[in-house]
Amino acid sequence: MRRTADAVIIGGGVTGASLAFHLASRGVKGVVVLERKFLAAGGTGRSVGVIRQLYPSPETCRMVLSSLRVFQNFREVVGGDSGYVGCGALIGVSPAMLPSLERSLEIQREVGIRAELLPPHELARLEPRIDPSGLGAVLHEPESGYGDPTAVTLGYAAAARDRGVAIEQGVAVTEIRVDGGRVTGVVTQTGESIDSRVVVNAAGLWAGAVAALAGITLPIVVGRHPVFIVKRGAAFGPPHPVYLDLAGGTYVRPETGDLTLTGSLVEDETRHPMDPELLGSEAGFEEA
Ligand SMILES: Cc1cc2nc3c(=O)[nH]c(=O)nc-3n(C[C@H](O)[C@H](O)[C@H](O)COP(=O)(O)OP(=O)(O)OC[C@H]3O[C@@H](n4cnc5c(N)ncnc54)[C@H](O)[C@@H]3O)c2cc1C
Repeated sequence: MRRTADAVIIGGGVTGASLAFHLASRGVKGVVVLERKFLAAGGTGRSVGVIRQLYPSPETCRMVLSSLRVFQNFREVVGGDSGYVGCGALIGVSPAMLPSLERSLEIQREVGIRAELLPPHELARLEPRIDPSGLGAVLHEPESGYGDPTAVTLGYAAAARDRGVAIEQGVAVTEIRVDGGRVTGVVTQTGESIDSRVVVNAAGLWAGAVAALAGITLPIVVGRHPVFIVKRGAAFGPPHPVYLDLAGGTYVRPETGDLTLTGSLVEDETRHPMDPELLGSEAGFEEA
């Protein structure tokens, strides 16, 4: 079988679903999303979903602020529920990290992000359950928090379908056809060909493998990031905000059912490269 599409998107995670929605909203007809498993089956469905606004450049800060407004107004802008909870985020840094945090705060203010820098002794005013010793300062982002990555993906996908996008699950792309240095389409695992001059690699953790189908090498290292779920005791009190402890290298984010998600913030992916097929595998007690 052979058919034609104006754009083929490989991957039905949050990137593929959002892109499909935005292309269709701008009038692109004939968009096809091919997802080898099911929507949000990849990194998206495993994401901690923290929405914070501390990023190192004006471009990334503008992007995150614009995303935040979408999460906050998801029902009106896209449809469905993003699961956004604006519980606020606190970001603790060591004294040595303070100059770079101050530079980032300047960028945040320039682009219109609400954030304030607190000396450690003022932390108790917002969250007395955090021990401020060893901290140089704490950044408070009152509008940050967390969202539900799967719900966001399903919301984008439903809105994309309403705008004419075909979303096909259980369909893996096994070949990308290239002619004279230009992409001409894809072939799926059933042998079906879809002709398209636009093929988007939205395969997330598998982006390297998908790029290789077109003869392209991407310098991507897939790192392992175990997330641990702990139950807060009855004496803990109300849920805590999102807290990123950049000095200590850990984070916590509240979840329903008195649960807290936690993990490491140390970027050591190259020491723990992971086969993406192992996504979702259990972490051992030693690793915890
Ligand atoms: C444990 C964890 C915690 C995270 N925490 C946060 C956080 O707190 N805040 C934050 O902003 N981000 C976080 N992230 C990152 C965020 O989840 C990702 O950046 C985002 O979900 C990536 O989405 P994606 O659509 O690009 O990729 P993915 O969700 O990985 O989607 C790619 C899709 O492509 C499909 N696919 C692969 N190969 C093929 C093929 N050949 N044919 C068809 N389909 C294919 C896969 O099945 C998959 O569904 C976290 C990620 C993880 C794993």
